[in-house]
Amino acid sequence: MTNAAPTASDAKQKAFERIDALTEELLGVSHAIHEHPELGYEERFAHDLLTTTIASAGLKAERSAYGLETAFTARSGPDSGPSVAILCEYDALPGIGHACGHNVIASAGLGAGLAVACVAADLGGQVIIMGTPAEESGGGKIRLIDAGAFEDVDAAIMLHPAGLELFSMTTLAVSQLRATYHGRPSHAAAAPELGRNALDAAVLGYQAAAALRQHIRPTERIHGIFTIGGQKPNVVPALAQTVWYVRSPDARGLADLKPRLAACLRSGAVAAEVEVALDAVALDYLDVISNPVLERLWGQNAAAVGRRPAQPEPGRSVVGSTDMGNVSAVVPSIHPMISVAPPDVAIHTEAFAEHARGPGGDKAVIDGAKMLAGVAIDYLADASLRKAASEAFVAGG
Ligand SMILES: [Zn+2]
Ligand SMILES: [Zn+2]
Repeated sequence: MTNAAPTASDAKQKAFERIDALTEELLGVSHAIHEHPELGYEERFAHDLLTTTIASAGLKAERSAYGLETAFTARSGPDSGPSVAILCEYDALPGIGHACGHNVIASAGLGAGLAVACVAADLGGQVIIMGTPAEESGGGKIRLIDAGAFEDVDAAIMLHPAGLELFSMTTLAVSQLRATYHGRPSHAAAAPELGRNALDAAVLGYQAAAALRQHIRPTERIHGIFTIGGQKPNVVPALAQTVWYVRSPDARGLADLKPRLAACLRSGAVAAEVEVALDAVALDYLDVISNPVLERLWGQNAAAVGRRPAQPEPGRSVVGSTDMGNVSAVVPSIHPMISVAPPDVAIHTEAFAEHARGPGGDKAVIDGAKMLAGVAIDYLADASLRKAASEAFVAGG
């Protein structure tokens, strides 16, 4: 038979050969990003390195995509067919550098994208390497969603390094809220009756929130701190401020909880006769809805490189929040964890940063590139899998 569409296994063989040939370059990128840690929206070194590498591989990289200076995209394959986006993160943490191992995410995503680019046209689908800045804070993926980056994307995949090999991260939806109370200053001894105390309002709001905590779900969390509380005891505080994190296992729970906290914070202002302004400190991160069809493909492709991911369970999980949750609300997605360190080494520690550029991190870059490429190829090659992934997405799972 001539001109037959290549099978997924033919395409994978070609893609894996490409990844093997790129090994030195991918590890060079991983190490270079690790050695130049950059905070969210300041990832200029990583953005330049990744887009230059993409361009030197013969692909067209769109730099500063969707109006974000350090975002990028690179597309291969026909516009008309199905599309899969492979997401790269590359921001670091203040003080402890690449302690979340985003250098591994960027390099594995790059390798997978370049490899699938070699076979995308044959498969009749499109692969998009998408550089998504500011995961640790700033919600780069949320800004990309708002700018339309996922409108022509059928599925989004990425990996995240960890001390465990897992199908998914256990994520919480999180919202950050700031309450600023404006009262009326007065001499606290000479004319207290003329003052309206912003600190009292903040304290009463805090107490109300503390009472609310008794009546929320055991899986939900509310934490608050005082950031402004007055200048001098003999001046009635005219300004006070509290900052809050609200967490719930899912977006619906978060949507229920946020107005209840807001009502508590406003109640302090009512009691103390002051004004209060509530505003969001950051974009809300939603929980990740892990697509079961893409998860299954992840498991099959992991097995092909000798990895055995497990489902998370109590005591064997990675808990956190990520803006990939917001992506998973708009397209079928996965956010699996690939092991780069021993199980007792947690992400966001200096020890984890060492592993992210050590032998474990390097192996995860190459294995991870093959696993992501394998999932992308399976997805583009099989319409029934795409249909099943979409049906599971619509069903909310
Ligand atoms: Zn992190
Ligand atoms: Zn991370």
